Amino acid sequence: KPVYKSDIQIAQEAVMEPISVIAAKIGLGPDDIELYGKYKAKISYEAINNLPQTDEGKIILVTSINPTPAGEGKSTVTVGLGDALSQLGKKTIIAMREPSLGPTMGIKGGAAGGGYSQILPMEDINLHFTGDIHAITAANNALSALIDNHIHQGNELKIDPRRIIWKRVLDINDRALRKVVIGLGGPVQGVPREDGFDITVASEIMAVLCLAVDLKDLKKRISSIVVAYNVDKEPVTVGDLGVEGALTLLLKDALKPNLVQTVEHTPALVHGGPFANIAHGCNSVMATKTAAKLADFVVTESGFGADLGAEKFLHIKSRAAGLKPSAVVIVATIRALKMHGGVIKTELMTENVQALEKGLDNLKKHIETIKQFELPFVVAVNRFVTDTKEEVSLLLKWCEENGVSASLTEVWEHGGKGGLDLGEKVIQAIQNQENNFHSLYDVSDSLEEKITAIVQKVYGGKGVEFSTKAFRQLKEAEKNGWGHLPVCMAKTQYSLSDDPNKLGRPSEFTIHVRELIPKLGAGFVVALTGDVMTMPGLPKKPAANGMDVDDEGRAVGLF
Ligand code: ADP
Repeated sequence: KPVYKSDIQIAQEAVMEPISVIAAKIGLGPDDIELYGKYKAKISYEAINNLPQTDEGKIILVTSINPTPAGEGKSTVTVGLGDALSQLGKKTIIAMREPSLGPTMGIKGGAAGGGYSQILPMEDINLHFTGDIHAITAANNALSALIDNHIHQGNELKIDPRRIIWKRVLDINDRALRKVVIGLGGPVQGVPREDGFDITVASEIMAVLCLAVDLKDLKKRISSIVVAYNVDKEPVTVGDLGVEGALTLLLKDALKPNLVQTVEHTPALVHGGPFANIAHGCNSVMATKTAAKLADFVVTESGFGADLGAEKFLHIKSRAAGLKPSAVVIVATIRALKMHGGVIKTELMTENVQALEKGLDNLKKHIETIKQFELPFVVAVNRFVTDTKEEVSLLLKWCEENGVSASLTEVWEHGGKGGLDLGEKVIQAIQNQENNFHSLYDVSDSLEEKITAIVQKVYGGKGVEFSTKAFRQLKEAEKNGWGHLPVCMAKTQYSLSDDPNKLGRPSEFTIHVRELIPKLGAGFVVALTGDVMTMPGLPKKPAANGMDVDDEGRAVGLF
């Protein structure tokens, strides 16, 4: 029986090339990059500005079925596909999000791919990387401090302290901070009010950093952020406070895409990391567009399943940046499909063809969704060594019978070599399948119509129910002229519905919208559904308990 190495073992054994060598592969010289040590660099604004105006590279979006605790390996397939396309002689760049410390310390342990399909240096990427997320935390909290100071110093803008929607953030899961009271201790300590913390990757600063096309756009977006309402219930923005310059200054380096490499030395831009359940879930527009200017193929990933990350990539990011993806890869694993078919996690090792067959309904829904967008697609079956022959052949046969292009990938075990067939099928899909990419809603529709369209077309639900609060906010948003914005749904990743326990393909369900939050800088309205939290908590056994650092400074336990 072969012994498999852990992700961190493979990462630590890999020999990286100096980042200048990787940059040279995509035509970037020493003056085009700013070094963060030997193996990480940012691409300078000058280099980006000197690139051609058109981005010709073909964008391949990697998404998946609804994730389960079994793990789908979407990042692993993204990296492996990038390496495979490189091996096929295509000039390829991978564009991915950077991991948040929240899940790293909580449940995931790391998010830089897995096995022989990883981006490096994995330890840095999973920890503080180039400091972008910390810069976002700092900018976010500087704004909080400036709001509270404004109120303390006389409150010229007449901000209603009970109607401040801007929250503080921290990039750690910390449920105790969800609701806090600040400013206690008398007049010198500020004005007491209720506040709360979100995780940094749900912050609107993260969203604007990921959607901005340059520094000027970033400043404009920050200026439009609504932070509160005044005593007359009118919106108060960052521009009203006059601090967009300072906040943009704090982010001037964070906006530059970060260049790293895979185990096989394919260039990767790892930049920005909004969650896909409570935010828009895509790496930065700066990284994707820069990659599309430098390479022929860009493999990019959006978070969680096609109901969340891909829907937002296609409705929000593509619209904001004028992107048109060339193909979609839907990642599925037999393990996860079996869970969708009713198997519990501890029984996944046992062959169960019936459960697999039942769980296929989940994959089927996501295929239907991508078909509605009229995009070419391929299903990537991310093979686990525990998958049995029977199970694999059932899944592939099902795809064949349904006219779905599918590929069994073994990138986790073999790196790019294990994804050559996938690479070829993706290229064929781009060449042979029709691409009539279009939105599933008209952005000029009302917010209610747009939310309903997502629920019915993407989730397969019956309709939407708004809480009294959400209904009032819906009316207010329309009145404030925000009705024309796209919607960013915040929903559990585990189910197509808003109930995380409804696996497979639930039907006849209603989505419950409990609150709407305008994000004018990002350019969307967030709809919070079900019980989804914008500040997660840590699990009973946090991944942190298995982490350590040895006396030489090497990380242990980042999976
Ligand atoms: P996702 O992007 O879907 O969250 P990742 O690619 O980050 O998933 O993978 C999650 C974990 O699962 C990683 O530790 C990775 O090594 C592991 N993994 C992924 N694919 C496989 C596979 N085919 N066999 C075994 N482990 C895998």
